[in-house]
Amino acid sequence: MKVAFIGVGRMGGRMAARLVAAGYEVRVYDPSQAAVDALASKGAIASKSPAEAAQGAEYILLSLPSPKTLRDAVLGESGVLKTATDGSIVVDFSTVDPATTKEIAAIAAKQGIQFVDSPVSGGVAGAENGKLVLMVGCSADLLKKLQPVFEVLAGRVVHCGPTGAGQLTKLSHNLLTAINTVALGEVLTASVKAGANLEVLCEVLTAGLAGSKMLDYLPKTLFTAERPANFAIDLMHKDIKLCLDEFSNLPMPLGQLVLQTYNAARAKGLGSKDSTSVNEIYEELLGVRLSLPSAQ
Ligand code: NAD
Repeated sequence: MKVAFIGVGRMGGRMAARLVAAGYEVRVYDPSQAAVDALASKGAIASKSPAEAAQGAEYILLSLPSPKTLRDAVLGESGVLKTATDGSIVVDFSTVDPATTKEIAAIAAKQGIQFVDSPVSGGVAGAENGKLVLMVGCSADLLKKLQPVFEVLAGRVVHCGPTGAGQLTKLSHNLLTAINTVALGEVLTASVKAGANLEVLCEVLTAGLAGSKMLDYLPKTLFTAERPANFAIDLMHKDIKLCLDEFSNLPMPLGQLVLQTYNAARAKGLGSKDSTSVNEIYEELLGVRLSLPSAQ
């Protein structure tokens, strides 16, 4: 079965590699030659444009950094709609806004092509291990047709509702994740500055109501010496903004504050660091570093 994969960065690259390993013929496109070469060495076929990758593909999959790049890759001069054939299914794993999704889906439908939003959570580890959580926006019938591909990539598939419902769910998920990240950074740096032991703090918080999946995650990211850039501050900033735009007529005071913290991190040149490294703002202000010797 032929599959196209457009955008093979941290997430898309790992997902495409799993599809190659599962026996799919995978044609990949990415403006980064290094990203394409890495997959070609695993058995994927390199393409020169999204249109070339999409030619003859039953499933056309995308994992892109923004609504604009998604628009270009699908609707642009050499976008997938130039060659995709009637009946092929386009699945977007990027995080974008519901309005962009609905607009692209309506244009694709006029060509007989179905467009599905399926943003993901689970990070690079989930992409690598095929354990992503997929938040899918499409009809129940169409979802059934996607099962063969989804079972290679996902540990859990949640049908969120019609087109755009997956993106609405994902933006809500990421705004809460960002709020949790900054809430932990603010309190932990203050507490360590005041003399608390981070290891003891984590033990107690984890046992109480202040525990969270984000706190469990920090020993793999912020608390390590290397601080691996799994999910860039720039991408989280994009998601917070998209979510706040979506809820622009609603009171979102915490979201706005957290956006300002991410703005500050980007203004300091931290945009390509991991989203949890937004807390380096607090670390610098207070002159402390959140690190656990046991973290790796
Ligand atoms: P990334 O920057 O590592 O990868 C994006 C890739 O898209 C890059 O290789 C880039 O060269 C390519 N690209 C840029 N413009 C393109 C275009 N016009 N056509 C084709 N390819 C293009 O980003 P990522 O971390 O893999 O994230 C991809 C998407 O998944 C984003 O929407 C992000 O918000 C979402 N996401 C990421 C994570 C994570 O943990 N990294 C988790 C969940 C969701």
